[in-house]
Amino acid sequence: MLTNDQLAKWDRESFFHPSTHLGQFARGEAAQRIVTGGEGVFITDRDGNRLLDGFAGLYCVNVGYGRAEIAEAIATQARELSYYHSYAGHGSEASITLSKMVMDRAPEGMARVYFGLGGSDANETNIKLVWYYNNILGRPEKKKIISRWRGYHGSGLMTGSLTGLDLFHRKFDLPLSQVIHTEAPYHFRHPDPTMSEADFTAHCVAKLEELIAAEGADTIAAFIGEPVLGTGGIVPPPAGYWPAIKAVLDRHDILLILDEVVTGFGRLGSMFGAGHYGVQPDLITCAKGLTSAYAPLSASIVGQRMWDVLMQGTDENGVLGHGWTYSAHPIGAAAGIANLKLIDDLGLVENAGTVGRYLNETMRAAVGDHVHVGEVRGEGMLCAVELVADRDKRSFFDAAEGKGAKVVAAMLKRGVIARAMPQGDILGFAPPLCLTQAEADQIVAVTKDSIAEVLG
Ligand code: PMP
Repeated sequence: MLTNDQLAKWDRESFFHPSTHLGQFARGEAAQRIVTGGEGVFITDRDGNRLLDGFAGLYCVNVGYGRAEIAEAIATQARELSYYHSYAGHGSEASITLSKMVMDRAPEGMARVYFGLGGSDANETNIKLVWYYNNILGRPEKKKIISRWRGYHGSGLMTGSLTGLDLFHRKFDLPLSQVIHTEAPYHFRHPDPTMSEADFTAHCVAKLEELIAAEGADTIAAFIGEPVLGTGGIVPPPAGYWPAIKAVLDRHDILLILDEVVTGFGRLGSMFGAGHYGVQPDLITCAKGLTSAYAPLSASIVGQRMWDVLMQGTDENGVLGHGWTYSAHPIGAAAGIANLKLIDDLGLVENAGTVGRYLNETMRAAVGDHVHVGEVRGEGMLCAVELVADRDKRSFFDAAEGKGAKVVAAMLKRGVIARAMPQGDILGFAPPLCLTQAEADQIVAVTKDSIAEVLG
């Protein structure tokens, strides 16, 4: 058996980790954790720690770790048909069955599902479909995509451009010119703290209208947004936001892409954010919760009005020139089927609603009055604690102090994983949807003690 030191050395010398400080890691100055196992909401590591994973990996292990049903489904599929492609009308029982299961769960008005591998490639597919759609309709100028500052949509060239976080643009020559950003629906960070939620929604709508007027509606193809801002800070939208935004988009014939990579399949306590917020998208992006990350798989769910045009396009031009080798991979599909069954059988969408509400309420009661907590917010099984330097002035700590990261490190010592969100001192929680109230209590108690340790 390899020693921990041997593995750690190979790790530093061979492995290019994503979203990691390369120099610090190579020099052995950065965190390094070799994860060995997972059961329920807990993971274990080579140093003998057992940690409550309050972020479900990267908000993806929605049914929790160690589910034998999914492992069995994957093994059976690998034995029977490890792979076949899905080009030119090919499929497998698993990929076809999963497509039916996804469409049965999708909001009204959706027509077909395309399978990819992860959230970034699914968004890449969606943008290509939007461009194809407007080309078929004879509107080659209508191509720009509106995204929101603080949105997260992936880290490819187009999807990294859609992402509205400086870290993902800096030194990569992004965003690409076809992407424009509008204000994040982030009430707490708006400079005027007296603005009501309803007024803030009106303000976001006005900003969108301004941008459309400045750019010209005939140059704008689509608007993309997460139902709840995720990586940008876990921020539920202000009341009435989605229907109001959708009304503007409809007026200007702009498509709506809802990026439900985090929210799809139950995280908000509803199957999709679309239904949760009462908004009808043209495209839905899914990944994470589709397989609970037991295998890589994403889904682009296409609405009827786009589907009709896409079909017309291929009637005119032949085969749609888009596809990945691993589209609808049978092993991913088998994992997806078993995962969606488990979500139903265990009532995890309902659990995300009830235990998620409990987590948010107990978190607010435990830390909401702390002098350095500005806001506790969340929706379903998503929760965030935003740290502030001064509550009354709503001022923030200097980023260099890394207060959020320090609290997260203090939590880790107490056996709970939270995520220091990348922009601002925000503690993020997105536990598996099977979280129990007792486990929620543990997360809250550890958060409270760790905030007290770091911030007094
Ligand atoms: N969209 C959203 C909303 C996400 O949160 C993420 C990943 N965190 C992505 C897209 C990109 O997914 P992936 O990392 O699987 O490419």
